[in-house]
Amino acid sequence: MFCVNRFSPWAFVLLAAGLPMHGALGQSAPANGPELRVFDPSLIDRGVNPCENFYQYSCNGWLKRNPLPPDQTSYGRFAELVEINRLHLRQILERASVASPSRTANEQKIGDEYASCMDVAAIDKAGLEPLEPELNRIEALKSVAELPMLLGHLHRIGVNAFFGMGSGQDFADASSVISFYGAGGLGLPERDYYTRADPKSVEQRGQYVDHVRKMFVLAGESDAEAQKDAQTVLAIETELAKASLTITEQRDPQNLNHPTDIASFAKELTHFSLAEYVDAAHAPASGKMNDMEPKFFAEFNKLLAETPLDEVKTYLRWRLLDGYAGTSLPESFDNENWNFYSHILNGAEKQQDRWKRCTRRVDQEMGEALGQVYVAKYFPPDAKQRALEMTLAIEQAMGKDIDSLDWMSAATKVKAKEKLHAVMNKIGDPEKWRDYSKLEIVRGDALGNQERAHEFEFARDLAKIGKPVDKTEWQMSPPTVNAYYDPQQNNVNFPAGYFQPPFFSEKEDDAANFGDMGSTIGHELTHGFDDEGRQFDKDGNLADWWTKDDEQKFNDRAACEVKQYDAIEAVPGVHLNGKLTLGENLADLGGLWLAWLAWMDKAQSAHLDMTAKTDGYTPDQRFWIAYAQQWCTQTRPEQLRTQAETDPHAPEEYRTNTVLEDLPDFAKSFSCKKTDKMVAPTPCRVW
Ligand SMILES: [Zn+2]
Repeated sequence: MFCVNRFSPWAFVLLAAGLPMHGALGQSAPANGPELRVFDPSLIDRGVNPCENFYQYSCNGWLKRNPLPPDQTSYGRFAELVEINRLHLRQILERASVASPSRTANEQKIGDEYASCMDVAAIDKAGLEPLEPELNRIEALKSVAELPMLLGHLHRIGVNAFFGMGSGQDFADASSVISFYGAGGLGLPERDYYTRADPKSVEQRGQYVDHVRKMFVLAGESDAEAQKDAQTVLAIETELAKASLTITEQRDPQNLNHPTDIASFAKELTHFSLAEYVDAAHAPASGKMNDMEPKFFAEFNKLLAETPLDEVKTYLRWRLLDGYAGTSLPESFDNENWNFYSHILNGAEKQQDRWKRCTRRVDQEMGEALGQVYVAKYFPPDAKQRALEMTLAIEQAMGKDIDSLDWMSAATKVKAKEKLHAVMNKIGDPEKWRDYSKLEIVRGDALGNQERAHEFEFARDLAKIGKPVDKTEWQMSPPTVNAYYDPQQNNVNFPAGYFQPPFFSEKEDDAANFGDMGSTIGHELTHGFDDEGRQFDKDGNLADWWTKDDEQKFNDRAACEVKQYDAIEAVPGVHLNGKLTLGENLADLGGLWLAWLAWMDKAQSAHLDMTAKTDGYTPDQRFWIAYAQQWCTQTRPEQLRTQAETDPHAPEEYRTNTVLEDLPDFAKSFSCKKTDKMVAPTPCRVW
């Protein structure tokens, strides 16, 4: 569970959790809105010079037409599709929530979970009572030595306290699944929020303490107690944060690879009985494991020796409240939770409607039960076929591209092509659907359902340890508007929901579809060869297949992009992090280039007239505009700051302009001059 999520799934900041969507190629029109198009001339602002700012040129029409909805922190074409699709999922869930004997077992589960989540009156009436057994367990802790038993249980019900534990593929041997232990336990978005000294970060920490205080007051503490407890939480989390790797350090898989065995790891943890922990977590008590961050666990061990019992209890109480505040606790908790995480940190002006959040919850908990109904309704088999054809065309283009590289030696090219040919293409939906029969969903028990869904997922994850890797498994649900590459499995994954307008349409031509969806396919494929992905071989092992000389040349070329993005100031005082975003930036540039090559090939073999205009644009111009228009996005300044500080993806404007500045073919299509803004003086290029 750790590795895949850590290595570059193409997770858009808003969509990282996998939001739902609608389906079916060509079924693009929302009930009462305009039809979504892949290449849309009505969005173009002809008042802007395309060689000065191509993003504004391609997107201004969309930006004018789509003011930011108050419940969104960022709103773009992905969100546009997500919103339409949520309506489809809502229909499925509302139908399934009508108690009827004819419901299938899965329909009962998704329907009753949705109904339980929507029943705010019952949740409010129950108050904190459903959480009492867990709060009592924490209260009953008699010494820090008893923590392992309790923590094993809390991890099973999804509470993110102290560290994380799960299954993962062995870095050295991708065919085997072992135990993984990693850093965790923070309430702020990532570790640097605890350590940065600039005024904005200091202010945010103050707001966080205030948020924790308010949550403790809601849970029944006096103001004075809550104030003190909130400070305790910040102190403990700060220690954990300081011991954790930065998000940039985490991007190098070598930093996360520390194979050991559970017996040796247990000996290191002198103040924490690992035997008791694994017993309570129902996790393996022996065998190979990966200690992802040894420094973190050494500090964690020390922290336990130094922290009074009451403070440990306070911290656990907070982690528990935080974990269940979303849609399982009364509205007062829910609102305060929204106020800090969505309003203060990301600028949202209004809480999302309940049905949207409950739809998302069911998708997260039982994505393949909901997804199975969804796919049957909205993803026709011919969509899958067309998507596969496109993927194969892009893969072929990559083979040719590797052959043509002037900087790579013949020996490394052979290995690179071996890896390319071993890539597995997963499109649409799983070969076999996840079995939810062991998950019990009780109508009217929102909090209990959340606990059981976590337990089900935790057990499902741990059950993989010691068994062969199942490469057919998906990390995203079928309705998700997103895609990812998995470096340890060497596969690309495109959920069903993505293959539709405004990203792909059977009504539009290849210029539009390759510019948009083709660039995404190329993006995922290039992840196999970015600064992280290139460190894994064709079988997904962390194994070096590069000659020293080629590795040096790769790094030199990648450094060009690091510099390029480091120079971008996303919000006043906050620059993008070129190293953090390197993998995504390489994938954006390489992916678009591959899509261009694949499309040029197709266009040539079809003898396409490259001078013939449609809607006033030549085919190549429409290719670039379609690429740019997928990124049209409004973002609140607060969200932009969070994104610049935490997201491996650059903001959308730069995913458009900075990428195109590096492609001379783009400049040619719009007759841009060398001195124009959209032409980099020395373009970067790796793939
Ligand atoms: Zn990506």
